[in-house]
Amino acid sequence: MSHPDAAIAALEQEVIALQWTQLDRRHLTYPDIAPIIDELTQHEKLKVTTIGESYLGTPIRRLSLGQGPLIILAWTQMHGDEPTATAAVLDWLRLLLERSPGSLPTDWHELITLHVIPMLNPDGAAQEIRQNGQGIDINRDALVQQTPEGRLLWQQVQRLQPTVAFNLHDQNPYYAVGDSAEPATIAFLAPAYHPDKHVDSARLQAKQLIAHMRHILSHWLPQGIARYDDSYSARSFGDRIAGAGASTILIESGAHRDDPHRQVARRLNVIALQVALEAVLSGAHRDTTLADYYGIPGNTADGFCDIKLCQITLNDGTHEPFQTDICLCLAKGSETLEVDFIGDARGVHGFVEHDARELTLPGLVRIGDDAAALLQRLGLRGEHGNW
Ligand SMILES: [Zn+2]
Repeated sequence: MSHPDAAIAALEQEVIALQWTQLDRRHLTYPDIAPIIDELTQHEKLKVTTIGESYLGTPIRRLSLGQGPLIILAWTQMHGDEPTATAAVLDWLRLLLERSPGSLPTDWHELITLHVIPMLNPDGAAQEIRQNGQGIDINRDALVQQTPEGRLLWQQVQRLQPTVAFNLHDQNPYYAVGDSAEPATIAFLAPAYHPDKHVDSARLQAKQLIAHMRHILSHWLPQGIARYDDSYSARSFGDRIAGAGASTILIESGAHRDDPHRQVARRLNVIALQVALEAVLSGAHRDTTLADYYGIPGNTADGFCDIKLCQITLNDGTHEPFQTDICLCLAKGSETLEVDFIGDARGVHGFVEHDARELTLPGLVRIGDDAAALLQRLGLRGEHGNW
């Protein structure tokens, strides 16, 4: 169903038409995006700057559009295994280069300069890990700055003095929206810059932009948008950059049912970024309130598992048999399904739930057990997709 706002409906159509189809992948590495950056460079309006290189020597590039006084900076894949927004920002730049101005004023280039750093952590991306080539989590390096990637980001912030900063990540697929049975496909945060979570005018603007983006996106995700916890973390970049005076916005791309490559979150990232860009110029976000922001339900960790076996009976042959829930999740960074939780799993929703009240497993299970073997023993192998 198309968006009731005709301009947003038209935007969605353009976003879909202009996606880089080759980026519809589960994971992205630097060789996946390098040819696209080269292709974008053909546009005379886009300026590409190599700002430095990663610990292991891969170039880190910044793509810039416009020459206005209002500076927007966005970066993606600071965590190497979080690629969704990398595809989204490349889609976004193509949209800005190729679409008719739509709701943007025709002279927007004179009002805004947009800088995008896609894939800040190419070494982590190459290994499909969170950390950089030193094994350091760049997002805990905002104070010490031992990583070349963290230093580059901080340098860019200091040089460019962005008004609005987008810190773009992926979150694990098991976050739920509040206590609902909906995965958090998008989670937003206007990070705190002080332990007391003060709201200055920059942070207020970030919260208003988030409330505005959420309002637009809620057409596609009426229950699927969450608000990330805003506990202050001095060593994290979002918090430090918020402290430098930028309206800083964290967007976490999350899971959506039947969407293993997170293409729903990718598409909605592009729409959110574009809506925010338009709002920065039109002021459309200014009639939202702090209450709108805090009205977004919380982002709940461990709200989901991949498969939930509900009330299965375990019988070790010695003790009294007992009934329990078993949650199965993909092991981190792998395609292997393993036992993640045994016990009372109320409040944890399975992307697939199996009523196992009639099933008895001879023997016990342990956390970390191979779930494929378990499902095989239960005769459920192949019952749920590929498992
Ligand atoms: Zn991350």
